[in-house]
Amino acid sequence: MKKVVVLGGGIAGVETSIFLRKYGFEVELISNRDYFYIYPISIWIPTKEKKFEDVTIPLKDLAEAHGFKFTQDKVIKVDKESFTLEKAGERRDFDYLVVALGQDKLKHKGIEHTYSICGNPNETLKYSEKLDSLIKAGKGKLAFGFGGNPKAKEAVRGGPVFELLFNVDYYLRKLKIRDKFELTFFAPMPKPGERLGEKALKMMDVMFKRLNIKSVTGKKITEFTPDGVLLEDGTKIESDLTCFVAAGDGHPAVKAGNLPQTEAGFVVIEPTNQVKGVENVYAVGDSCALEGPEWKAKQGHLAEVMARNTAYNIALKEGLEKGNPKTYIEHINILCLMDMGNGGGLAYRDDKKAMLIPLPILGHWMKKGWGIYYKLSKLGKIPRLPGM
Ligand SMILES: Cc1cc2nc3c(=O)[nH]c(=O)nc-3n(C[C@H](O)[C@H](O)[C@H](O)COP(=O)(O)OP(=O)(O)OC[C@H]3O[C@@H](n4cnc5c(N)ncnc54)[C@H](O)[C@@H]3O)c2cc1C
Repeated sequence: MKKVVVLGGGIAGVETSIFLRKYGFEVELISNRDYFYIYPISIWIPTKEKKFEDVTIPLKDLAEAHGFKFTQDKVIKVDKESFTLEKAGERRDFDYLVVALGQDKLKHKGIEHTYSICGNPNETLKYSEKLDSLIKAGKGKLAFGFGGNPKAKEAVRGGPVFELLFNVDYYLRKLKIRDKFELTFFAPMPKPGERLGEKALKMMDVMFKRLNIKSVTGKKITEFTPDGVLLEDGTKIESDLTCFVAAGDGHPAVKAGNLPQTEAGFVVIEPTNQVKGVENVYAVGDSCALEGPEWKAKQGHLAEVMARNTAYNIALKEGLEKGNPKTYIEHINILCLMDMGNGGGLAYRDDKKAMLIPLPILGHWMKKGWGIYYKLSKLGKIPRLPGM
């Protein structure tokens, strides 16, 4: 059977490996971390609703459950005909290569004074520790923001920042110390979150006012400092703890290699996920440049569609499937169950509609339930629901 090497052990890489194994391919997954990190439920680590181990699955357990090989190493370069690992050096021993390395983040001046919940999982732990110490001190100023990338608008990640903000607000209320904390939301764009539609923007505004959260938008960030955020008009957001999610940027291993890529370093793919002009290399998930409408976004559910399509399209090339290649384009939509600690909102956007359906109480428990389902089903302990 042909050998497929999958680079990256996140949502895209794991799903690709699982589905390639269903066709019987020999699969090796290479990742720098030895665990699969379930980002969508990691927002609850700082508020103590989840422990680190609740949002991770050891990759060796997934490898055992699905029969693929797991190798821990760091990919430093991906080329059309080979890839290079930090420990093992250059390798060419594959029939197909799938790039699923996720994305990097833009580097802003003073970013080291901020914590992202969308990057290295250790940063979420550090954020959590710092929040604990402020809670112990009994007061603090907290800032939550995200930035944009003019070269890749779809790489903006704002949803998790809103989720963390509302969850921290609710957590402080539960501890009965919310009045001792000042919470500020900030973003350089005038209408952050606008791709979810006007209704969602208005709802967010109402929530901010109701929860006494300050909002500073439409001002460019000049620098982060240990005690706040400096803005282009010379004003400063005072902050003892800043959560900032910079927009995505191309992965360094992609930038270092010769795969076709956009100015921002995202892999250019066909709608079938095959890398443009490279017959046996595919890219899935956050690593690739997306085609599609202005409001498109890089999301986990799209990464999984791309992963399943890639397994199918490789099987098609090998004569194990019949039919036409599958493409991701028709699956572009925004689907996000945005958690608010004591409830949630279901955000949905496609070409025809944009809506945000409030789901008080139920929304929170639906997302919690999804997290449990996701973990167990990935390990093959419970059956998968179609399309999930
Ligand atoms: C906090 C948060 C909440 C989110 N919530 C939602 C949600 O509710 N719904 C939704 O649809 N999407 C959500 N998303 C988006 C979703 O998580 C991403 O789109 C998805 O994780 C992309 O999957 P990926 O596999 O492409 O990248 P990643 O999940 O980032 O995985 C990349 C993998 O590559 C590995 N890797 C990276 N660099 C190297 C290297 N040099 N060498 C070897 N391995 C490497 C990493 O260890 C990781 O295993 C959320 C994202 C975040 C951060």
